[in-house]
Amino acid sequence: MIGGAFLSWFQWAWLAVGVLTFAGLFFIAAPYGRHTRSGWGPLIGARLSWLIMETVSPLFLCLAYFSGLAVFNPVTLLFILLWVGHYVNRALVYPLRMNKASHPMPLSIVALSVFFNLVNAYLNGRYLNLRGARYTPAWIVDPRFLFGVALFFTGIVINLQSDGILRRLRSNGDPGYKIPRGGMFEMISCANYFGEIVEWLGWAVLTWSLAGLTFALWTAANLVPRARAHHEWYRMNFPDYPDRRKAIIPYLL
Ligand code: NDP
Repeated sequence: MIGGAFLSWFQWAWLAVGVLTFAGLFFIAAPYGRHTRSGWGPLIGARLSWLIMETVSPLFLCLAYFSGLAVFNPVTLLFILLWVGHYVNRALVYPLRMNKASHPMPLSIVALSVFFNLVNAYLNGRYLNLRGARYTPAWIVDPRFLFGVALFFTGIVINLQSDGILRRLRSNGDPGYKIPRGGMFEMISCANYFGEIVEWLGWAVLTWSLAGLTFALWTAANLVPRARAHHEWYRMNFPDYPDRRKAIIPYLL
């Protein structure tokens, strides 16, 4: 387990890697889903891939949080529950419900995602372990906590609704891609990504921490370039694609 001084240094370094990744992903779309290309290793079924990638996060969060935890703090435990709740869906419910026609994933992407999840979860868990004493019971009526929780749940609702809309696009057994309709898809091509980013921004605000902000920025670093790539792909493949629709931020981007 790393100590407090090193944790802070590590967070800044990891944030810098996130910024570089953000820039790089505008040039190289991560090769899974509709952007799958050969040369990225053997393919693993989508369900198993999501199970492997996303189980790592709650496991390492809990490992880093509970290891050597001296004082029980109900506020930080609540943070942990929110994070784990998200990943129960992403690691178990989402893969079980996902469409069988979903593209398999290259091993290299699974490995990179495991690494990404491991570091982000470890940093957040370790931060809450070391610095948890700053969250007194009064934190749960602090405006930062209340606003962050509202953002977090708004993001969850948008993300779940949007994942559901995408899933139903193939419910008639046709494995191809269609134009998503309804919910926030009327304004943006990647409503599921928008929900995910809002959710982790909410976590950053409700914990008011550099570790939380780092994870939110990493999430955006992954998803904003990918949303741009999805958006361009839709426009190239569907001549009737709605003109007013943006990629990921309503009315803006
Ligand atoms: P996509 O939107 O690319 O795909 C989601 C699912 O819907 C896939 O099964 C995909 O099939 C299918 N799908 C997508 N678009 C269509 C369409 N137009 N017609 C029919 N089927 C479609 O999302 P991701 O797979 O990248 O991500 C899944 C979830 O994980 C999202 O909620 C996302 O927010 C989250 N995520 C979070 C990250 C983070 O950094 N925190 C990183 C990456 C994802 P196929 O696989 O065949 O394309």
